[in-house]
Amino acid sequence: MNRVYMDHSATTPVAPDVTAAMVEALNQSWGNPSSLHSIGREASRLLEKARQQVAGLIGAQTSEIVFTSGGTEADNLAIIGSAFARQGRGRHLITSSVEHHAVLNAFQFLARSGFEVTILPVDYYGQISLDSLKKAIREDTTLISIMHANNEIGTLQPVREIGELAHEHQIVFHSDAVQSVGRIPINLSDLPVDLLSLSAHKFYGPKGAGALYMRSGVKITPLTHGGGQEKKWRSGTENIPGIVGLGKAAELITGSLQEHVIHLNDLGSELIGRVVNEIPQAYLTGHPRNRLPGHASFVFPGVEGDSLVTFLDAEGFAASSAAACSTNSFSASHVLRALGLKNEVALGALRLSLGKDNSREDIEGLMKVLPGLVEQSRLIWSLSQA
Ligand code: PLP
Repeated sequence: MNRVYMDHSATTPVAPDVTAAMVEALNQSWGNPSSLHSIGREASRLLEKARQQVAGLIGAQTSEIVFTSGGTEADNLAIIGSAFARQGRGRHLITSSVEHHAVLNAFQFLARSGFEVTILPVDYYGQISLDSLKKAIREDTTLISIMHANNEIGTLQPVREIGELAHEHQIVFHSDAVQSVGRIPINLSDLPVDLLSLSAHKFYGPKGAGALYMRSGVKITPLTHGGGQEKKWRSGTENIPGIVGLGKAAELITGSLQEHVIHLNDLGSELIGRVVNEIPQAYLTGHPRNRLPGHASFVFPGVEGDSLVTFLDAEGFAASSAAACSTNSFSASHVLRALGLKNEVALGALRLSLGKDNSREDIEGLMKVLPGLVEQSRLIWSLSQA
């Protein structure tokens, strides 16, 4: 069966040139970058080359890139590290209700450790309001963390305005940009963000490799204590093959980002238009315009999202829902509930996230089966509730 992958917000396939660079690094540059001899120096050269490649993708200085094991670690390092480093100034922190768990659970940990956390609500499209942010800021606020693009609903937040507001009050601004780096142009030399998380596996690189951008002069408390690698921000011998893969993926996407965005915008608009027009009671979730290119998320009331995903898989289409199934009950995702959707509506979520290899034919193929599968899922759900 010809399989069509439409789940690029979960992860992306590794680009063949990335695999080749990683294999070469594994075979030929296995030295420890901290060693003084030439074998170590070769590993160190690759490390610094990758730093340049990542910095190039986001308009940063090479000295501002700290390699991590991925987006989750970058988020934790930014949030917990910044809260601890600035606690002498205050212990109040601000985030939003639609963040990824890598952010929300880091804040939960801080709340248990004596910090006060304000969680901003979002509107129906998943955006925070700048007014409510203004009202939440206090004398003792030290950190604002608001994601750039939401993984479930694709909505983009007004990061420039948030950053400007944060800086007016000398507050550090972190943004989880795991979904947006490599998917939309980001230029940190012209964006008021102090800390930014990214992850290689969202832009055709390997899993387990990511980075935290730390604007020059911003201080955090390190979370790992050891050999002092990454200028003491992140101790531990560097994962050279993973970092090489991250660097190569960054270089490749930098060169093709413009056309990538156009391609994803075209396909995404077509997919959204067709689903909303051709399937009864199909609603787009997230912002209709301010959203990630190629990200299409919906709710179909009366459908159970997980079973729809299973039916789609049987037809050769990889997609995702947003519901978490616990032992004996279904609960909708925290993001969809934050939009104000009722649990029974939010349970019928479907996320289709497109990538560079998707085509019009893929959408054509999907639309041949999706309307029927939604109808079938509705029937099953209504029978199960009877
Ligand atoms: N933040 C967001 C918005 C994400 O979508 C993800 C992964 O899906 C993460 C953080 C975690 O990144 P990683 O899988 O690299 O740990």
